[in-house]
Amino acid sequence: MLWFLLTTGRCNLKCKYCGGSFDPRHSPWSVQYGLEELKALLAKDEEPVVFFYGGEPLLNPGYITAVMDSIKAKRWGIQTNGLLAKRLPPEYWRRFDVVLLSIDGVEEVTDEYRGKGVYRAVLRTLKWLKEEVKCGCQLVARMTVGRKSDIYRDVMHLFSLGFDKVHWQLNAVWTDEWGPAEFLKWARASYLPGLARLRDWFLAEARKGRVPGIVPFLGIYRALLIRPFDWVPCGAGKRAFAVNTDGRILACPIAVSEKWATVGDVKSGTIKVGLKLDDRCSRCEYRHVCGGRCLYTHYEKYWGEEGFDAVCEVTKETIRVLEEGAPALRELIEKGIIRREDLDYEPTLDSTEVIP
Ligand code: SF4
Ligand code: SF4
Repeated sequence: MLWFLLTTGRCNLKCKYCGGSFDPRHSPWSVQYGLEELKALLAKDEEPVVFFYGGEPLLNPGYITAVMDSIKAKRWGIQTNGLLAKRLPPEYWRRFDVVLLSIDGVEEVTDEYRGKGVYRAVLRTLKWLKEEVKCGCQLVARMTVGRKSDIYRDVMHLFSLGFDKVHWQLNAVWTDEWGPAEFLKWARASYLPGLARLRDWFLAEARKGRVPGIVPFLGIYRALLIRPFDWVPCGAGKRAFAVNTDGRILACPIAVSEKWATVGDVKSGTIKVGLKLDDRCSRCEYRHVCGGRCLYTHYEKYWGEEGFDAVCEVTKETIRVLEEGAPALRELIEKGIIRREDLDYEPTLDSTEVIP
């Protein structure tokens, strides 16, 4: 099971698509429950995968070290903006299996959305983790993709910086950057053609025996070629839970104020809650690949039904673009040029969502 541990509801940045800290009434800025309670909760899970989350998790490094000192996890990870990396001693960084650093691509795009100087700060952290800390972890670039992004340019740029994997989410539904119509126009004109170019590069690398770590591609090809998804790929509420700083267990780590998302508490554990996807999914030809994409957006339709359909249209087109490459990959597996395991991607081990 994947466990997100929110170390604080506070953030040191105020990125345009997120707005910064959680309201402390919904996610207090310090941890309100006891470590013993968390220990007892995670002891019930034979293979806990633990990811620190926030707010910005490194605003509370003491909690991270306390948890890592007292709990046994199958896998450790963190999702961070990377600006406060030195607050956590190198010996703890070395114990992480996965580190997700938020960065959107080239400097101009990252700084536009996240704030001036953020790009360079993330690069300093990347270099520090690789060269001085010698982290040994998988370094994943976690992008948010919006109007200013060029998906091909930005993904290729992040690989050129030395990231092992690149993952992204579209800035859709919870944003006022644009509405459904403009988002669709951009997707058709820029994003989807960029994805096709990226797919061609992915296939060219695979022919050489190397599978690039493009997380949405790995997840979608896993579903197309190896194991379908039977639920939202992030696992929200079934294979992934978040422990909020107030001790509530949430189905989704960003749903700190939404009632439907509370599915237990740290003292008594999780309770069975009938989480449901929109009816559209049961009729969708790509349900086994998309899995419903994002549970949160089935409950909170900030862009209305039209917005939900717009995102689904882009999701289906994304899957179609990748589907065109599936026969070639199948053949490469059969010929032994790439391994089946290279495409058997499990998002809950990396705390990723697969469908952008
Ligand atoms: S594309 Fe839309 S309708 Fe189809 S499974 Fe995904 S979320 Fe559901
Ligand atoms: S994909 Fe949606 S439901 Fe899943 S963790 Fe992210 S916001 Fe929550």
